[in-house]
Amino acid sequence: MLFEKLEEYGCEEVAFFFDEEVGLKSIIVIHDTTLGPAWGGTRFWNYRDEEEALFDVLRLAKGMTRKASISGLNAGGAKAVIIAKPEQKTEALLRAHGRYVETFKGRFRTGEDVGIGIEDAKIMHKETEYVVGVSKEFGDPSPFTAHGVVCGMRACTKDVYGSSALSGLKIAIQGVGHVGYNLAKELHKEGSELIVADMREELTQRVVKECGAKVVALEEIYSVDCDIFAPCALGAVINDETIEKLKCRIVAGSANNQLEENRHGMILHEKGIRYAPDYVINAGGLIAIYIEAQHGTVKEAMEKVEGIEEKIDEIIAASKKNNEPTYEIANRLADERVNDKKKEQKASGKA
Ligand code: NAD
Repeated sequence: MLFEKLEEYGCEEVAFFFDEEVGLKSIIVIHDTTLGPAWGGTRFWNYRDEEEALFDVLRLAKGMTRKASISGLNAGGAKAVIIAKPEQKTEALLRAHGRYVETFKGRFRTGEDVGIGIEDAKIMHKETEYVVGVSKEFGDPSPFTAHGVVCGMRACTKDVYGSSALSGLKIAIQGVGHVGYNLAKELHKEGSELIVADMREELTQRVVKECGAKVVALEEIYSVDCDIFAPCALGAVINDETIEKLKCRIVAGSANNQLEENRHGMILHEKGIRYAPDYVINAGGLIAIYIEAQHGTVKEAMEKVEGIEEKIDEIIAASKKNNEPTYEIANRLADERVNDKKKEQKASGKA
C-alpha cells in the first residue's frame, strides 16, 4: 500500500521517525530532488490518525516540488509532519526531530509551518544547520509571502481591469493572521478598500484600526461585493458551495490548496474568474529563505519575489491562448521543468 502511494504521488522517499522517550512521531517525505536539495516546512498537527498525516505530508511535499520548480529555484520539494497534541511540544521533542532532519545531511531542509513558529525552528536548529528561516532578517516569511501575493494580484488586475494599480479596488481578505495582516498593510498603502473576516476579533480589530478595514462575518466573506477575493486562511475554500457565492472577478491569496478539487479551477475558468494558482502566488516565503541560504540580502529576496507578477502574467497569457484553466497551465510548467531536467541528467549519465 505504501509503495502504491509513493507511485501515486511520484515521490522519492518516505521516512518514519519514532522516539518513544520524547513522544515523537514524525514523517519526512522527500518528493523530488531533481532540481536540487528538497525544501519543505515541518508541520506540527494533532492528526486524527496516521493515514490522515501521511495523506497530508505526501500532498504538501508534491506541492513544494511544484512551488520550487515554477519559482525557478534549484530546489526540490519535501515536507515533514510531527503527529502530536499541542501540549506534547517540548524542547526534547523538537530537538529529536532536528536530529532526524540532520540524518539527511542537507538533502532535506526545513523550517516553519503550521504549528511550528520561529522559536520552535530555532530549537530544531540547535541539532542541525538544515533548518532555515531562523535569522533576524528572514525569520518571519509572511511579509515576503504577502508581497508576492500583491505582485500576483497586479498580474490579475492587469488582465481583468487593464491596470496593475490596486488603488480603489475592493479586496476581501479571508484570514488576517501572519500573511493576511501583512497583505492588508501593503494593500492599504496602495489605496485598496479592505473587507476582512477572521474568527479572532483582536486580529480583525487590528486591521480595522491600522488599515480602515470593514469586518464581515466568517461566512459572509465569500459573497461580499468585491473585485478580488484573497483566501489567506484555509485550504479547500473554493468548493461547490462557495463558488456560487463569489461576486469577485479575481481569486488571489496565500492559502495552500485553495481548490477543493481540480474541477473547481475549471469552474472558475468557465465563470471568467481569474484564479492565481496558489503555489505560484504564495511562493514568496520559500523564495526568501532560499535566497537567505544563498547568503543573499532582503532586497535581493524581495526583487526575486517580485518575479511572481511576471510568472502569473505568463500563466494568464497561456490560459487565454489555450482556453485552459490557470491551475493546469501552472502544473504543466512546473512539471515540465522537473521532467526536462530529468531528461538532461539521464542524457549526461547523472541519473
Ligand atoms: P496564520 O495561522 O497566521 O493565519 C491564518 C488566519 O486565518 C488566522 O488568524 C485564523 O484565525 C484565520 N482563520 C482560520 N479559519 C478561518 C475562517 N474560516 N475564516 C476566516 N479566518 C479564518 O497563517 P498564515 O501564516 O497567515 O498563513 C495563511 C495561509 O497562507 C495558510 O493557508 C498557509 O498555509 C498559507 N501560506 C503561508 C505562508 C507564510 O509565509 N506564512 C507561505 C505560504 C502559504
